[in-house]
Amino acid sequence: PTYFIVLLFITRLISTLQGIKTSKPPNHHHHGRHFPAGTLRTDPTAVSAAATDYGHIVHRRPAAVLHPSSVDDIVKLVNLAYDHNVRNHNNNSTSAGLTVAARGRSHSVRGQAMAAANGVVVDMMRLRTARFDKNVNVVVSSSSKPPGPYADVGGEALWIDVLEAALRHGVAPVSWTDYLYLTVGGTLSNAGISGQTFRHGPQISNVHEMDVVTGTGKLVTCSPSTNADLFYAVLGGLGQFGIITRARIALRPAPKKVRWVRMLYSDFSAFTSDQERLITVHASRKQEHDTTAEVRNHNDGGGLDLELDYLEGSVMVDRGGPPSNWRSSFFPTSDAPRIVSLVAQHRVIYCLELAINSYTNHHHHLDTELERLLQGLSYVPGFAHSKDVSYVDFLDRVRGGELELQSRGLWEVPHPWLNLFVPKSRIAEFDSGVFKDIVLRRNVTTGPVLVYPMNRNKWDERTSAVIPAAAEAEEEEDVFYTVGFLHSSGHEGWEEVEEQNREIVEFCERSGMGVKQYLAHYATTEEWARHFGPKWTRFRHRKSEFDPMKMLSPGQRIFN
Ligand code: FAD
Repeated sequence: PTYFIVLLFITRLISTLQGIKTSKPPNHHHHGRHFPAGTLRTDPTAVSAAATDYGHIVHRRPAAVLHPSSVDDIVKLVNLAYDHNVRNHNNNSTSAGLTVAARGRSHSVRGQAMAAANGVVVDMMRLRTARFDKNVNVVVSSSSKPPGPYADVGGEALWIDVLEAALRHGVAPVSWTDYLYLTVGGTLSNAGISGQTFRHGPQISNVHEMDVVTGTGKLVTCSPSTNADLFYAVLGGLGQFGIITRARIALRPAPKKVRWVRMLYSDFSAFTSDQERLITVHASRKQEHDTTAEVRNHNDGGGLDLELDYLEGSVMVDRGGPPSNWRSSFFPTSDAPRIVSLVAQHRVIYCLELAINSYTNHHHHLDTELERLLQGLSYVPGFAHSKDVSYVDFLDRVRGGELELQSRGLWEVPHPWLNLFVPKSRIAEFDSGVFKDIVLRRNVTTGPVLVYPMNRNKWDERTSAVIPAAAEAEEEEDVFYTVGFLHSSGHEGWEEVEEQNREIVEFCERSGMGVKQYLAHYATTEEWARHFGPKWTRFRHRKSEFDPMKMLSPGQRIFN
C-alpha cells in the first residue's frame, strides 16, 4: 500500500509543481550534473545517486529526487507532503507518512541525508547549480545590522563558495570545518567544528539569521530576536525542524597569510597541557581587529603576543610502517626516518597543530613571536616544523589530499567514522584505554585520528547541539575534547573498524565518562533520548511544533 500511496503522491506532485516536470530517464548526452534544475526525478539514475553517501555503509533508495531550481520548489514539495500526511492522519490511515530529506553534499557517513521508499530527497546541489553566483551575497557596510560584515548564503552553498566570495571583499567567516566542500545547511545542522572552534565557537555560534522551510511548508525567517525558538532548534538540529535555504554568516577581515606549525609529542599529558594552555590564553582575546597594529599590540598578559586562530591535534599510531594519510605529509621528507623511529619507540605519538594569522604580507614579526611561543611548550625537541601559506591554501588544505585519494580510487570507499566529545577530566583515561590499548591492539586504524580541545563557553546552550554535560564530571568542565576517528577502509575491511568503534563506545560507557557522539547515529528513539539527555524534552517539543508530521530528515532515525 505504501508504494501506491507514494505513486499517487508523486503523480499529484508532478501535476501541482508548476514548471516542474518529471524528466525522462537520462539519455547518453546527459551526464549527471548537466540536467536542468527544477525537475522531479524518479528514474533509476537519479534515485540510486541519492541512495548513497560518503560513508558507503548505508544504502537507501527514495521514491523520487527533487532537483529544485528555486526555494519555491522546496516550499511546494514540503507543503504537498505535509497536506498529504495531515489528510492521511485525519483518515486514520495506517500507511507510513511521506518524508522529505534535504541532501547537501551527502558527506554524512550513516545515511543521514537519505530517505526510504516513502520519501523524496531534495538534492540541494541542484539548487546550487541553479542559483550559483547568486547564492553568496557579501555585505561589508558597517552601518547595516547586525554590526560588522556578513554574508547571506544559500543553505546549498559550499563553504568554499562562501570563502571565495567573501575574500573578494577582503573578509571571511571565522569558524570553519577542516574540509570546505560541505554545504552550509549540512554543517549548520550538526555544529561545524575545526581548529577555530576554541576561539570563535562552532559554525552554529556564528550565524545571525536564517530562512527555513519548516515541516509545515512555511518559509520562515528566524534569528535570536525573531522566531528565536526555530532559530536555535535548527542550529545543530540534524535537519529535524526545517530546510535551511539561507543563513546570514558573520564575517571578519581576512588574514593574508598563515604560519602553520606542527610539533610532535611522545607524552600525552604534555600534549594536552600545551593544547589547553594555548586555547585558554587565546580564547579570551578580543575578536574584532581591523589592523595589524592592533593584532600585534594585543597582549592579554599570557605573555604570548600572537593571534593564534587555529589549534588541533592528532594521534599517530605505530602500524609497522611509515604513517600515511592526508595529514602526514607536513614534515620535510628528510625528517621521515626520525619520525618513523619516534613512532616505533613510543608506539603512540601526538601531533599538536596550530596556525597563526598574519594580516599583512610582511610577517617577519612572526619569527620572533613564534620562537617565543614554542619556547614555553614541551614537544620533543627538534620535532617542530612550520610553513607559511596563504589563508586560502590553509583553509582548503584537505582538498589536495582528497584529489590525490580520488585519483587513486581511495576516496569513494567505506568511511566508518566515529566522532566523540570527551570531557577534559577524562581525556587521559581515554588515551590509555583507547589509543594505547584498543587502537594498538586491534591495529585496524587507517586515516587521521584527531584530538583537540574546545571551550565550552563558545557553545550556545539554546541550540540543539549536544556536548558533554558540565554536571557529569567531578569538576567544572570549562573545556572538552573532540576525538575524531576519520577511518577510511577498503570495501572489505570496514566491519573490523566498526567492531573497534563499538569497543571504544562501550569502553566509554562502562567508564561513565559522559562522552557524547558528534555526527551521532543511533537506530532507536531510546538511544537518541539518552544522547540528548536533558535536552530531549525540548528537542521533542520543538519537533512537534516545527515538523508535527515528522517528515524531515528521516535518515537520522530519530522520529522515523
Ligand atoms: P549532508 O550529509 O547532505 O546532510 C547532513 C544532514 O543535514 C542530513 O540529515 C540532511 O538531511 C540535513 N541537511 C542537509 N542540508 C540541509 C539544509 N539545507 N537544511 C536542513 N538540513 C539539511 N564536520 C565538522 O564539523 N568539521 C569538520 O572538519 C568536518 N570535516 C569533514 C571532512 C570530510 C571529508 C567529510 C566527509 C565530512 C566532514 N565533516 C566535518 C562532517 C560534515 O560536517 C557533516 O557530515 C555534514 O553533514 C556534511 O554536510 P553535507 O552538506 O554533506 O550534509
